[in-house]
Amino acid sequence: MSAVLKSQSPANSSTAPTVKLLINGKFVESSTQVWKDVVNPATQEILARVPFATKEELDAAIMGAAEAFKTWKNTPIGARARVMLKLQELIRRDMKKLAACLTAEQGKTLPDAEGDIFRGLEVVEHACSIGTLSLGEIAENVAGGIDTYFIRQPIGVCAGITPFNFPAMIPLWMFPMAIACGNTFVLKPSEQDPMTPMLLAELALEAGVPPGVLNIVHGGKEAVDALCTHPEIKAVSFVGSCHVGEHVYKLSSDHGKRAQCMMGAKNHAIIMPDANKDQSLNALVGATFGAAGQRCMATSVAVLVGEANQWIPDIVAKAKTLTVNAGNVSGTDVGPVISIQAKQRIESMIAKGVSEGAKLELDGRNTTVAGFEKGNFIAPTIFSGVKPHHEVYKTEIFGPVMAIVAVDTLDEAIALTNANPYGNGTGIFTQSGAAARKFQNEIDVGQVGINVPVPVPVPYFSFTGSRGSKLGDLGPYGKQVVQFYTQVKTVTARWFDDAAVSTGVNTTISLK
Ligand code: NAD
Repeated sequence: MSAVLKSQSPANSSTAPTVKLLINGKFVESSTQVWKDVVNPATQEILARVPFATKEELDAAIMGAAEAFKTWKNTPIGARARVMLKLQELIRRDMKKLAACLTAEQGKTLPDAEGDIFRGLEVVEHACSIGTLSLGEIAENVAGGIDTYFIRQPIGVCAGITPFNFPAMIPLWMFPMAIACGNTFVLKPSEQDPMTPMLLAELALEAGVPPGVLNIVHGGKEAVDALCTHPEIKAVSFVGSCHVGEHVYKLSSDHGKRAQCMMGAKNHAIIMPDANKDQSLNALVGATFGAAGQRCMATSVAVLVGEANQWIPDIVAKAKTLTVNAGNVSGTDVGPVISIQAKQRIESMIAKGVSEGAKLELDGRNTTVAGFEKGNFIAPTIFSGVKPHHEVYKTEIFGPVMAIVAVDTLDEAIALTNANPYGNGTGIFTQSGAAARKFQNEIDVGQVGINVPVPVPVPYFSFTGSRGSKLGDLGPYGKQVVQFYTQVKTVTARWFDDAAVSTGVNTTISLK
């Protein structure tokens, strides 16, 4: 049975395919009574129905993972790495198929969907180096004839909870590294776009991931809470909004688990008056409106410093050149937002900005697209004159909306950014090395771009959002996640030489 199959659930008369659960290496139909439609945001076509797994199904997935851990943890590192080598090959083979599915259920443009998959693929490539990434260390002769070393061991069943906005990249941030480290995994993808993660799971099985090593369950709060509280789960990785992340972090920690939560954002781009105007404004507009503003690293606040405040008409003019259309139409720059509810929420935030007195320079509401009249489209929207107390400044809108704040100096721009509770990403656009260096040094945000609009680090580093955008100290990929997914065991060893003279009983604590 494949991950999404054209079969009917007895719970519903709809003819849409049902999304399966992956338990113990088998794609199985849920017996739940609770289903949700997976909807194409450009057309409202129901693509599939996703089950909210029952308690018994959640338990079966977790216990299957616990059983599989007994053998997977002892599978040689090279064998684990070779599964990842095969997985990266299969993702490349199916790139177009994955991108088409991702665009259909998420809405982003086809090139951006390929980017989503590619950024995840890079993590799989990095997981192929698990041998060197998970090495221990040794210190010889810490005392007479005594060596101390540490080894990294897998921790057990790990869980991942992912958001709707990167249905390929973020699952791939999680399960490949967890599995490569020798753990087993239970993934709960976003119920809004679960089909792409299921295709990735099919590829993982084809690549040789044994039964029970990767499991997928679906659902909402109940499924998440079950993962955060089940005694067999040792670590929880979460990516999503702040209010859910805070809940997941507390619940998982209260139940004795390792937890890492990457959360919401309000990313500021600082435009200095000496910036290369054309390049910087292109980058700003792309980073704000790309993926319809539904990236955690999207720029949502443009801080124009001094004379750069005169560039507002140029920003508006560039934003107007973007094409709003369905993600699978060639030439589209801005696709639909994920749901009718998301569209309504974004529109209400725009209305709020107007009522609070910000100047609406460009209004993207009431946008219709010929041939896709039912789509959840919002065109680029720009406010100027935004103040720190405005809701459009304070709240993560997660749509194609730019808030422009004017300041006089770089110091003011830094102070403004540092006073914002989020710390996911930021950028400065300038031709001054001194200004860039000062910014890099003084800014209290975890990921900094210098003339780079969306500074998401490649997998040899880690994703390092900070402050209100993150809970837990370790990032979701890179060397940091090897620490997260492994337990360090330190061994202090002495081997007796039969020929040596006995030193007698020693009751002190020092090693000699
Ligand atoms: P979300 O928080 O609504 O959902 C994330 C996951 O939590 C989903 O799997 C969902 O089913 C589950 N969930 C939803 N409500 C829940 C509840 N009440 N209790 C328990 N679980 C619940 O996030 P989203 O709307 O899917 O994604 C957008 C958000 O994710 C934005 O805030 C964005 O900034 C953030 N995000 C952050 C990063 C990052 O790396 N910092 C990356 C991508 C997205």
